[in-house]
Amino acid sequence: MPTVAAFAAPSSSDPLLRTTIERRETGPHDVLIAIRYAGICHSDIHLVRGDWGPVTYPQVVGHEIAGEVVEVGSEVTDFAVGDRVGVGCMVNSCRECENCLAGMENYCLKGNTQTYGSIDRDGTVTQGGYSTHVVVDKDFVLRIPEGIPYESVAPLLCAGITTYSPLAHWKVGPGSKVAVVGMGGLGHLAVKIAAAMGAEVTVLSQSLSKQEDGKRFGATHYFATSDESTFDTLANTFDLIVNTVSAPLKLDSYLRLLRLDGTMVNVGAPPEPLPLRVFTLFGNRRSFAGSSIGSIAETQEMLDFCAEHGIVPETELIGVDEVNDAYERVLRSDVRYRFVIDIETLRD
Ligand SMILES: [Zn+2]
Ligand SMILES: [Zn+2]
Repeated sequence: MPTVAAFAAPSSSDPLLRTTIERRETGPHDVLIAIRYAGICHSDIHLVRGDWGPVTYPQVVGHEIAGEVVEVGSEVTDFAVGDRVGVGCMVNSCRECENCLAGMENYCLKGNTQTYGSIDRDGTVTQGGYSTHVVVDKDFVLRIPEGIPYESVAPLLCAGITTYSPLAHWKVGPGSKVAVVGMGGLGHLAVKIAAAMGAEVTVLSQSLSKQEDGKRFGATHYFATSDESTFDTLANTFDLIVNTVSAPLKLDSYLRLLRLDGTMVNVGAPPEPLPLRVFTLFGNRRSFAGSSIGSIAETQEMLDFCAEHGIVPETELIGVDEVNDAYERVLRSDVRYRFVIDIETLRD
């Protein structure tokens, strides 16, 4: 088994450190990828710290992966050595349940195999993208289109698809009024994508501190949710509210901002149950929904859409030895808007 360099969490409380891990041999359906860039997602931090359940350490995280093909299995014809490719949040699924057969393996009824922290087909624990190489089944590898800068593309593989999928599903386009709650890693991409789809975009952020950025990304309006009058001003306005915030919100206040047949979709995930008055849903026949990443086909569609519309994530490039500090900054929301690790620094 090939041994490769990685930056791993040794426990739930110790800093991540340089180490090596084993990758499987490149099988007939596999692609071996030399990783160039890996984004830092808030989920990475939750997982390594054990917030989402028991973890087998050492654990390598990272599910926003950009790199190039260095080897393909004997039955792989759609990728070739040198291709620029990406890997997102999942690396396999059961392929036989109703949802997989419908091409929505992100909703696999047996649970898709996550890029890190999942039990793989061979019984090992999957290890993510803070590493020099990864072996992935070709059906879960994305093609990175020309035109998206290599060093900035990685965040599209989680944050990008997570926001693109609900915008596409609820058919956002010219004439749509979309609100994006939260202007972080997910939110800033939601704004860019919704604006590129032709929607009129409003950002609902705690303060106005990122207002200039929001408008530069394509938002027409920007409101502070700390100001109670925002909720009166915007009542009955939106077709779709994309909530990217993981902290608990006063749901009824936000739901009242939806117009007839409007939907509030959550992509941020507060761990605790939230109270909701069903009467708020009666008014305007409102819906409250959730959405989880996107299928592989839809992820490719999103990458192509971003290339066509010049959508590039706002990133801060760091070396691998800065990852622990970057985690602290992510937890303080002190990043505009996504950290990307230059994996070259792991090869030193
Ligand atoms: Zn993520
Ligand atoms: Zn399935």
